[in-house]
Amino acid sequence: MSKNKSSESVKVVVRCRPLSRKEESNGPAGGIVQMDLRLGQVILRNPRAPPSEPQKTFTFDAVYDANSKQRELYDESVRPLIDSVLGGFNGTIFAYGQTGTGKTYTMQGAWLDPERRGVIPNAFDHIFTHISRSQSDKQYLVRASYLEIYREEIRDLLDPNHGNARALELRENPETGVYVQDLTSCVCKSIKEIEEVMNVGNQARAVGATDMNEHSSRSHALFLITVECSQPGPDGRKHIRVGRLNLVDLAGSERQTKTGVQGERLKEAAKINLSLSALGNVISALADGRSGHVPYRDSKLTRLLQDSLGGNAKTVMVATLGPAPQHYDETLTTLRYANRAKNIQNQPRVNEDPKDALLREFQREIARLRAQLNHRKWRSKQKSEQVEDESWDGDQEKEIEDEEDEEVEKEGEDYVKLEEQRLESEKEAIRGDQDLMADEKQKLLGEKERMMVDLRKEQEATEQLTAKYKAMESKLLVGGKNIIDHTNEQQKMLEIKRQEIAEQTRKEREIQQQVLIQDEETLELRETFTSLQQEVEAKTKKLKKLYAKLQAIKVEIKDVNDEHVRSRQELEQTQNELTRELKFKYLIIENFIPPEEKNKIMNRLVFDPEEDQWKFQSLVPAESKSSQMKKRPASAVGYKRPISQYARVAIAMGGHSRYRAENIMFLELDMTPPNTASVDRSKDAEPNQSPSVDSSPTKEKGVRKSQSWCQTPKSMTSSPSNVSLAACHSATTAAAQ
Ligand code: ADP
Ligand code: MG
Repeated sequence: MSKNKSSESVKVVVRCRPLSRKEESNGPAGGIVQMDLRLGQVILRNPRAPPSEPQKTFTFDAVYDANSKQRELYDESVRPLIDSVLGGFNGTIFAYGQTGTGKTYTMQGAWLDPERRGVIPNAFDHIFTHISRSQSDKQYLVRASYLEIYREEIRDLLDPNHGNARALELRENPETGVYVQDLTSCVCKSIKEIEEVMNVGNQARAVGATDMNEHSSRSHALFLITVECSQPGPDGRKHIRVGRLNLVDLAGSERQTKTGVQGERLKEAAKINLSLSALGNVISALADGRSGHVPYRDSKLTRLLQDSLGGNAKTVMVATLGPAPQHYDETLTTLRYANRAKNIQNQPRVNEDPKDALLREFQREIARLRAQLNHRKWRSKQKSEQVEDESWDGDQEKEIEDEEDEEVEKEGEDYVKLEEQRLESEKEAIRGDQDLMADEKQKLLGEKERMMVDLRKEQEATEQLTAKYKAMESKLLVGGKNIIDHTNEQQKMLEIKRQEIAEQTRKEREIQQQVLIQDEETLELRETFTSLQQEVEAKTKKLKKLYAKLQAIKVEIKDVNDEHVRSRQELEQTQNELTRELKFKYLIIENFIPPEEKNKIMNRLVFDPEEDQWKFQSLVPAESKSSQMKKRPASAVGYKRPISQYARVAIAMGGHSRYRAENIMFLELDMTPPNTASVDRSKDAEPNQSPSVDSSPTKEKGVRKSQSWCQTPKSMTSSPSNVSLAACHSATTAAAQ
């Protein structure tokens, strides 16, 4: 099956929950799902089909029936995956199935009952137990995030303002793949802490949801754990491996009924369908192997799971089923879906020394703080030794760095105490000294006081630094310690042994299965027939078997055809509805909106594929909105507006404030004499009109005209009044704005 050495297929396991009390009371029909645990097969009975119709059989990596224990599923199917994550692989577990079939039960289970704890709490135990049992040269950093995809929007469940926060965006990094921007990530140092994170997220999920079951059946929940591990390699350098684990509880896979729902609900149904149908399309495209394009970009969910499906990750899919006859169709769809997912090939590889490892940053920061701290302590020690003995050898700095932290710390404290005592005694001495003048005494005492204050400040700074250093260091977990659970240590060891045995039996069973299948295939080939009669019998048996297979495949083809017809009809129905709505909107637009308005609006609309929305283009480009709108048009450079003699005199006199702001624009006016004259005549005709800039100096008409007309930029700059004008130019422009 594997295409190349490093590729492996998605592991698919199926779990069927027990009949619920309500389902039991519905009728004596019993379940429609049968399981062969030894061979990993699910046999599905169609309650509506005649008994002659062959039952449908699907084979998976493992199957778990109604009596299966949480622990069994974990040990056999999940444990190897978590081990890989701890070794630096990416891993994904997702639960897929109809609402009410046990996705949440499988992923989370009942937290308080050790027997019924699901995959997630067991994984927490596993990860932290592994860390506590690993060698002490390993350092770990564990982080957790929790998000939910609801109506194609990503919400951070660990954000305290979860309810009001904006939906998060997806980004792509060529090295680490798709990630969620600004997603909260909590460093977790123990099982208790990570459980707390999960609780906070679960509460955030429940808040705002009127009906939690309803909500969880419509949203996808993703719990992400990143485990970074640093270990010295053979080259002596520390190497970091990063494993990312996605624990996904998908929305209910049942078809969202679109008939009868409208508005928001219709939109929501469409969006839930979008994510799951996109997931189905991605699985089909990958399982098919022929189609080059995999439509990851069609939904947020498929983009986030891109690595888990056909990429760099190991993936386990748990498909959950209900045994009730009324859900036959959904159960069959789930089984088909799961069956297709088996064929997906992933290429998992260890993430070694990625650039964005947070652990590396932490290690650097810790080293920096430590160096700072040591330097400080060395300085204090140096000072204290100077007090006792003036000679200090620089080489001793190295020695101190190697000393144990506590010792240095203690010495630092001792030094501060000694120094304080010394300063105190010196102060006493100064006070007692009879020879000193009073103000000199005061000065010396003040100086000592300052030294005391400095000393205390220094000590405070050191304490702060120490606290920061310790806080930082405590975030890293060191193999072999940190997890205070010694009382249960022996019990844990016992559990681990039991798990190892479970692992062993699982492997044995797998091998037995394979042997059985191989035997079945080759038995008949090796058989030598002693008589013709025997040969006929054997061949008839084989023929019967093949015929049954043929019938099963025929039924399968018919089923698939039926399903296609059904989904086509559904699509056609949706199309009809949409067309009808479109016609309605067209009618309104064509008859009630003026065509020019319609065109204006249509020209401004652009489609935003990221948000899947039409948007209005802003009238003014965004960046120039604030600055350009307010700017005045600039005049031709070098030319100033003609200025009247009257105005010049007024400026020189500094009299009327009106002329202070004269000539602020560089404009060349095309002013022909006859034009101006006509303006002047009109002004003469209306003497009451308030004087405008151009018309007011009517007395010096002749002089002004000739001057204005022949004014050159040069003469303007040489004019004395222009000096003051230039000075106030900038101020007035600013004021004018
Ligand atoms: P889903 O998350 O798929 O909608 P739930 O996990 O909420 O379904 O399960 C629905 C109900 O069935 C719950 O009451 C749960 O306790 C019960 N249930 C599911 N799976 C099992 C199982 N394997 N054994 C016992 N009870 C189960
Ligand atoms: Mg659920």
